[in-house]
Amino acid sequence: MAETQLTAESTRAPLSLSHILPDVYEQSPSSVLLHGQALHLRSYLARSCRVQLIDDASSSAGSPSMPDADLLVSHDALSKIPPERLGTVLAALARRATHAVIVVDTAPTDADTPHRTIRSCDWWKCKLEEHFGKLHVRSPLSARFAIFRTWPERGPIGTWRSWQRLMRRGSSDARPSAEPATTRDSATPDADAITTCPACVTGGATFVGQKVGFDFWRCTDCGLVFTDPMPTDAELVEFYRSHPRNSKYARKADGKLRRAGRRISRLRRQVSGKRFLDIGCSIGSAVEAARLKGFDATGIDLDAESVRQALQLFPHNRFLQGTPNEFAELGEQFDLIFCTEVIEHVPQPDRFMQAVRRLLAPGGLLYVTTPHLHHFRVPRNVLDWHSLKPPEHIAMFGRKALKTLMERHRLKTEHIAWDIKPNLKATFRAVD
Ligand SMILES: [Zn+2]
Repeated sequence: MAETQLTAESTRAPLSLSHILPDVYEQSPSSVLLHGQALHLRSYLARSCRVQLIDDASSSAGSPSMPDADLLVSHDALSKIPPERLGTVLAALARRATHAVIVVDTAPTDADTPHRTIRSCDWWKCKLEEHFGKLHVRSPLSARFAIFRTWPERGPIGTWRSWQRLMRRGSSDARPSAEPATTRDSATPDADAITTCPACVTGGATFVGQKVGFDFWRCTDCGLVFTDPMPTDAELVEFYRSHPRNSKYARKADGKLRRAGRRISRLRRQVSGKRFLDIGCSIGSAVEAARLKGFDATGIDLDAESVRQALQLFPHNRFLQGTPNEFAELGEQFDLIFCTEVIEHVPQPDRFMQAVRRLLAPGGLLYVTTPHLHHFRVPRNVLDWHSLKPPEHIAMFGRKALKTLMERHRLKTEHIAWDIKPNLKATFRAVD
């Protein structure tokens, strides 16, 4: 019997987790009261907020007038409460949080748990609304679990595929641990956690929606909009190999050379040395422009074909194929680094910037351009923005996200230009 129960519990838990996480992300609470013994959920939540566990006995404690958490998550616990106590527990729970998301098992099967009662979704809705006010029923994938929450649907909800993905993560990543972290400070950073922002690394994330099969999230700290899971390096290499765009760039090479020349003239006055690097140099226009302005110019690009063309078009420069990480291993440093329309393509912006920082000489200048997420011309629903185009553009920055990322790597913001087009153009100085 015990073995059967264990199996039922372990198959059910990830399902509930996948149902409830999007609701939690939508509220992006800084504190959560967790009602019910859900260790897997607890360890998940603890990555992004303060979690306090409560049981039925302690639910009536606490201040009666002031909610002591942003969100109450009651997870498959209410159906275990004896009917005569249910009203008291619900009244106490309702007082303690601003919002609530409640998962109820409408068909409990553990026959040996004496207090389990079978009630319909409608019965639960009436009962809960006596204490929580108007509730909204979320439509779960499972007929067995009813999910109620105190706020209405906002924005697009995940499709079947994103639920599936969450479920897979729930079952593989979120196994109950013996000592789950309960505060943000003690949470272990986890590169694969879906709550972790790839730019500021500390932020949680709310689900934004899907675009061409990619799930997009928004960081609750720095505001970065990013896809998760990120495409792998192999997928990106394959994508760019099958979508060559160098012929388009080559046709525009003259215009690019002139524009880059004007930019470099302005930036040249702000740096003392002559070493120039263009990261993601494509066919090498900016590198050539820098050489013509008197720099020792180098360009690197991931794409071997771009590097080949660059060498052909502008043979007086140095062009190398590889990642900034590989190049940084060589130990060279540069006084001026160009990184234009690159960072929005990068799956791990934080790791990328580590390498860029190593390539920048003390006091050196970094020039970055990227689409501007918070520009007034960007549609209200960011998914409608043409610049948000996975798998090419997978991390979209506003000023705060960009500054936060740079400051993490000891890069001081010197200037962020205003632009009539939705572009961020910014310079950052290497400080120690
Ligand atoms: Zn962030």
